[in-house]
Amino acid sequence: MSRKHRVIFHVLAAAALLAAMSPLEPSLPAQTQPQFAPIMTHALNGGVYWIEGGVGSNSGVVIGKDGVIVIDAKQTPESGKAVMAEIAKLTPKPVTHIILTHSNFDHTDGLPGFPKGLTVITQDNCKKQMEHPRSSPSHVDLAGYMPTKTVGKKESMTIDGVRFVLLHWAPAHTSGDLIIYLPDQKVAFTGDITVMRLPYPLIHLEDDGSSAGWVESMKGIVALDVDTYVPGHGNTQTKPVLEQRLMNTAARREKIKQLVAQGKSLDEIKKELGEATPPAGANPNFSSFTEVVYKELTKNKS
Ligand SMILES: [Zn+2]
Repeated sequence: MSRKHRVIFHVLAAAALLAAMSPLEPSLPAQTQPQFAPIMTHALNGGVYWIEGGVGSNSGVVIGKDGVIVIDAKQTPESGKAVMAEIAKLTPKPVTHIILTHSNFDHTDGLPGFPKGLTVITQDNCKKQMEHPRSSPSHVDLAGYMPTKTVGKKESMTIDGVRFVLLHWAPAHTSGDLIIYLPDQKVAFTGDITVMRLPYPLIHLEDDGSSAGWVESMKGIVALDVDTYVPGHGNTQTKPVLEQRLMNTAARREKIKQLVAQGKSLDEIKKELGEATPPAGANPNFSSFTEVVYKELTKNKS
């Protein structure tokens, strides 16, 4: 299929998918209906790829000597299958491992699109969140895809001849974030810690994330010997962009801290910082960065 035909095919598939799933998701407001975006595969160094499109997160693909390691599964089984189809165009080797950057369903619910019985690697807390009811529960049955190996803070491993360093500094976007660092390729998959869709980072307090931990984690992320960072959503990033994000966010957090110390209320702080009302389509259940920092700093005082 030519590229043009492939895009048309994906658009048609997306329309069919949306038509098929609309009646199943009556509780979702129109603006949060998942959109199946065209699948696009991008090559990085030494057998490493990232795949955007489908529904939900980016996925990573690492081709080893005998098998393929996937990072994040996207949000729907159809999207997971689309990743499998892209891998089949790159190599006949089987997928053997999936590493998840965290437990949010836009990264995990594509798992049923992959074969069962793979080695599934997560951070310790991510496994706990996947095994127990959480605030953003899965919409699919993940039996057969639960983590089979977990990492606490740091673990170096060679999978299929490829060196991996899996890193967790502190709770950040969630309490179970895991960074996948490939030192030989100078690539890191950073999950949603480095996502730039909002002016400041999205921290899930309901999944025990932390703004202080976000700053600590970002310091670790920018210190890695990496040329290309692949976030959970959006295009690849360079180190200077992430350094700037870290600086801006740390300064904002410091400012909020000062205002809290002056005894200001949350509303007063938001007003003083000129915090815009959330953009249309923003999930009303997610706290803004200001709200997150305020709640963290005042939780033991009320
Ligand atoms: Zn995400």
